[in-house]
Amino acid sequence: MIYNQILIRLGDLTLKGKNQNVFLRRLYNLVYEKLDGLKSEIEIRHDRIYIHLNDEDVNKVVERINLVSGISSYSFVVKCSNDLDDIKKTSLELMKEIVTKETSFKCDTRRADKNYPMHSLEVTKAVSAYVLSNDKLLHVDVHSPEVTLHIELRNNACYLYNTQYRAMGGFPVGVAGKGLLMLSGGIDSPVAGYLAMKQGIEIECIHFESTPLTSIESAQKVVDLVKVIAKYAPKNRINLHMIPFKEIHMALLDNVHESYNITIMRRMMYRIAEKLARKKDCLCIVNGESVGQVASQTLASMNTINSVTNYPIIRPLVTYDKADIIDISRKIGCFDLSIKPFEDCCTVYVPKAPATAPKIDKALEFEKTFDYEKMIDDAVNNVNSIIITKDSNIDLTMYGLEVREVLPEIKKELSK
Ligand code: ATP
Ligand code: MG
Repeated sequence: MIYNQILIRLGDLTLKGKNQNVFLRRLYNLVYEKLDGLKSEIEIRHDRIYIHLNDEDVNKVVERINLVSGISSYSFVVKCSNDLDDIKKTSLELMKEIVTKETSFKCDTRRADKNYPMHSLEVTKAVSAYVLSNDKLLHVDVHSPEVTLHIELRNNACYLYNTQYRAMGGFPVGVAGKGLLMLSGGIDSPVAGYLAMKQGIEIECIHFESTPLTSIESAQKVVDLVKVIAKYAPKNRINLHMIPFKEIHMALLDNVHESYNITIMRRMMYRIAEKLARKKDCLCIVNGESVGQVASQTLASMNTINSVTNYPIIRPLVTYDKADIIDISRKIGCFDLSIKPFEDCCTVYVPKAPATAPKIDKALEFEKTFDYEKMIDDAVNNVNSIIITKDSNIDLTMYGLEVREVLPEIKKELSK
């Protein structure tokens, strides 16, 4: 392969005025972190980054580049000297490598180096003429060419490229501050977490686990999902907070009418998430809710549930179709894990007829029947916080999570 570098463009970052340096530093750090361990070398040039391949497998490098939020696009480039003869020769070599049949083409020159002795158009003309006379497969089409040879003169060198690929986009994760992601084992919430990170929000995760009411495998699945999305996080790691939720879960089953079970459960989750978010300096709560998906996600339900907190709640998926969510889930490598069939606390005891328009007054009535505030404090105080990296090997029984046995309470429920 003739390409010897990858040129990385940093999108919107140039627009950020005074914060530009903060943005750039974050992004440079991310690039160093994600490309760590490869043979390639990184050259930082303010609003552009060049990756010198150094014989590294190009697919590996691209895979890593696609983990960095804030990179808008990249191109495979050939770097040569800015001597016109060298530019001509290298352009021809590049064209010979990529063109195998009759192809329309044009040259496009940019001269970031304003001291270069020729104008852009002169360079374009000279290079096109040389390439066309030496490669008979090419003919010129300046309006809709099949191949555009970009010639960039900068830093006393010349960069040639003919493709441009979109990268992750967004902002470097962390520049927007931190959010607390409510992470279940489903399809939606890991995608919500990914989108939040892509928009610059570093995440910590909170998971409400009801072991042994629910299986330990469902909690393990959450750990596995965090491992997958950790590859997008700063330093490739994410803090996961496992909240023991069994007591509250049991109290709900005992005290709340079935139709309000999910409503109250979610109100408890929000209350706990807010407390933890404050403790961990998270400026918002992020979750995977999407309007209309299930009974708890009608607007009426979301209002009643959301009314327990004033904390900012970010719902990246709120208007997404399930099919679009699944596309992202596959792309980020979560889907096969997410669809593993372990029940979580929302799939155990799913009420037959959940309220689709639950009322706040009624929710408050049910909540008076048990001392939930103490339970919430206990849950927050007994949180298991686990730092997870993409290579973590976590055994949840070490954190006191119990392997499921059939509890008398469950037996009672099941026999109903
Ligand atoms: P998901 O696919 O993310 O499980 P869902 O469509 O199944 O979402 P719900 O189960 O109603 O929807 O949950 C809505 C959101 O609430 C989830 O996306 C997640 O952010 C949060 N959530 C649900 N259950 C839990 C849990 N056990 N721990 C933490 N967050 C949860
Ligand atoms: Mg779910």
